[in-house]
Amino acid sequence: MTEKSAREKAIDRFRSKSRTSYSIDNIVNGVLLGNTNFLSKAITLVESSKPSHHEKSQQIIEKCLPKSGNSIRVGITGVPGVGKSTFIEAFGGYLTAKGHKVAVLAIDPSSSMSRGSILGDKTRMNKLSKNEKAFIRPSPSSGALGGVANATRESIILCEAAGYDVIIVETVGVGQSETTVHGMVDFFLLLMLSGAGDELQGIKRGIMEMADSIVINKADGDNVQASKNAKREYQNALHLFPQKRSMWSPKVKTCSSTEGTNLDKIWALIEKYKDQTMKNGYFGQNRTRQAKNWMHENINVMLKNRFYQNQLIENEIPHYESKIADKELNPYKAAKELIELFDKSTKNET
Ligand code: GDP
Repeated sequence: MTEKSAREKAIDRFRSKSRTSYSIDNIVNGVLLGNTNFLSKAITLVESSKPSHHEKSQQIIEKCLPKSGNSIRVGITGVPGVGKSTFIEAFGGYLTAKGHKVAVLAIDPSSSMSRGSILGDKTRMNKLSKNEKAFIRPSPSSGALGGVANATRESIILCEAAGYDVIIVETVGVGQSETTVHGMVDFFLLLMLSGAGDELQGIKRGIMEMADSIVINKADGDNVQASKNAKREYQNALHLFPQKRSMWSPKVKTCSSTEGTNLDKIWALIEKYKDQTMKNGYFGQNRTRQAKNWMHENINVMLKNRFYQNQLIENEIPHYESKIADKELNPYKAAKELIELFDKSTKNET
């Protein structure tokens, strides 16, 4: 075996230090000071699959919660290629120039194959990732013990505690992830393109219905007129949806992320939304509802983790799986028996 290089040794020292020598209070203080190294460490704990890390992360979250909430949380979705990362790069740049601190998180709960792929690619959001007032974090891997959605929710809390006042949560525009993101943000923005039907863009009606704003991206060059037409069409389509509980009427805007046009109008719209929903009480009610849902999701995750981490269950599952394969037992009965076993074993613990 070859000797380790000085660099490798330094990395080892850093790794063992980062594992052992930071107490919960160290990390919390670092986060509250807005130190991005500590913020990253805290998020890594939140995303970890290890029970001990998860436990530590919960204590950090608890201490950060009172300092969180002071932000606008914006969800951004749209099919791949619509320009999400280009838009966030431009919009994030615009906002930081105005003095905001912008955190960009991503979620991709639908896929375990593309672990960390969205935002993971270093070439995305090149400028923003070097911007001191911005913090970019790729999507958590599917291994997060608390589930990827909870990991993102907790990352929002941590970013807010670190002083980020605009939190952008990006999601890929497929299936379940939009609903998940919609359930953790204040304002939901759907990016679309002109010249392609909804079907072509793979956007379901339900997702359009969730949008507080549709932004037609790539409204530049030859595309300007088509984008204006699309804007009119989408605005008409949105009128057909029922009134939102927020009493907000969703607006359609056009923009060019590459040329940076209309970013100010989009921000003005988000501010108007915040103002209006703060005044009519919806903003707070929505966050409360989201917090209640978060509790229920945590219960689901905690119960599931307790079940699967139970030694007896862990030993029994392979037997039950073979019984199912041999058609000795049906899946419903198998699940019921396993849960009864779990109940019995936890009764013995108490
Ligand atoms: P994502 O997959 O939704 O994140 O899309 P990207 O941000 O990676 O953009 C996909 C492609 O569209 C890239 O080649 C971008 O340069 C291009 N693009 C993004 N926004 C605009 C825009 O506003 N105008 C034009 N002309 N191209 C854009």
